[in-house]
Amino acid sequence: MRLSFQYRLYPLAVQVPCLQAHRSELAFLWNHALAERCDAWTNEHRSIHYLDQQRLLTRWRAYDSDGLGRLSVRVAQDCLQRLDLAFRAFFRRVQQGERPGYPRRRREVDSFTFTPHRHPITRSRNGTWRLKVPKVGELPLRLHRQLPPGAKVKTVTVRYEAGAWFSTLSLEIPDPAPPPREPPHAAVGVDLGLTHLATLSTGESVEPPRYFHVGEARLRKEHRRLSRKRRGSHRYLRQRERLARAHARVRRQRQWFAHQLSHDLAERYDLVAFEDLNAAAMMEGNPLAKGLADAGWGRLREMTEYKETLRSGRCLRVPARGTTQECSRCGRCADPPLKLRDTAYRCPCGYQGDRDVNAARNVLARGMNLLSEELRRSSAEVKRVESRPTRVLGGRKVYQRRRAGSRKREHGIEVGAPFGLPTWTVRLAVPIP
Ligand SMILES: [Zn+2]
Repeated sequence: MRLSFQYRLYPLAVQVPCLQAHRSELAFLWNHALAERCDAWTNEHRSIHYLDQQRLLTRWRAYDSDGLGRLSVRVAQDCLQRLDLAFRAFFRRVQQGERPGYPRRRREVDSFTFTPHRHPITRSRNGTWRLKVPKVGELPLRLHRQLPPGAKVKTVTVRYEAGAWFSTLSLEIPDPAPPPREPPHAAVGVDLGLTHLATLSTGESVEPPRYFHVGEARLRKEHRRLSRKRRGSHRYLRQRERLARAHARVRRQRQWFAHQLSHDLAERYDLVAFEDLNAAAMMEGNPLAKGLADAGWGRLREMTEYKETLRSGRCLRVPARGTTQECSRCGRCADPPLKLRDTAYRCPCGYQGDRDVNAARNVLARGMNLLSEELRRSSAEVKRVESRPTRVLGGRKVYQRRRAGSRKREHGIEVGAPFGLPTWTVRLAVPIP
């Protein structure tokens, strides 16, 4: 399983210029590679791909030894790969009939990624933790939590965000046990909303914390101040930095809160059901609030999902249609339908309760239905496998079959599955260790 861990970096004063140089040099490389692709197409109708550019990279680096040559090859290659990804995404979306934007020139690149050869975090002699970055050196970092046991660092991304440096470590950890094939011990349904951030089927409701409002008020103020400065002036640029910091602060606060809430849900329940709602289709609230809430909901669901996976629990998404209107006791639809201002749910069957709690209970019921169906299907599958008659083979044939099977496992890799494509096996000349 893949997990990512973030740590704040505290580069030394002598390291900062080198890190900043990475941002501008990578932007130069990006723009150069982009221009080359465009020129090749407009002049010669020839498309250039990543591998062509990777070959050229050696020459570029030799030619520009004071600039590009000072970057690590791995970092430069990653930049070209990202450009390639941008082009692929562009062409894919064109094929799908969308109208995407063409990959753009960049003034600065905010992050760079590399694949470490060895474990990149070390402890220095005075007891502080350091992150090894090629061609930059050892950057001090705050190791606010240890890496999980058995984790292998696959890639490291160094990121600049509003005056601060961060590192993201993408880890490969041993797969946690799959959820047990039995009904959950504690299950909960969650209704996401705008007035209450989340309402649980137990009746609890989660309010947005006070600092959300404080942060947003500050954002508004900084935006207003920026609009009063002359574009491009020193004060304008300084104010832009200040605004970026305020945005980053709010973003981190929201993220922190989503972590707390999802942790709490994952710790208390081994099944959490969310509505699979499409926030863009919701008409309530102003565009800003909608955007913020949208991001918050998506993040909360994603965080809960991976935290449940780590704990061998389940996090389900259920169809959202009608969860507000149905009665959670008898299943009848509200007549007349509930309006946005109605806060209580009353049903002719006698059920009476908060409208959001009613919705959360519906979400939970749908989640349980989904799960029981899944369990029934998987147990039927297990039975089918068990009841299949085993063929008794002997001697040479078994040996050959076993040999063939083991060779396939050793020499083949499965391709396609992670990208949602049909799986097939590719034979490799060299066995994978
Ligand atoms: Zn009812």
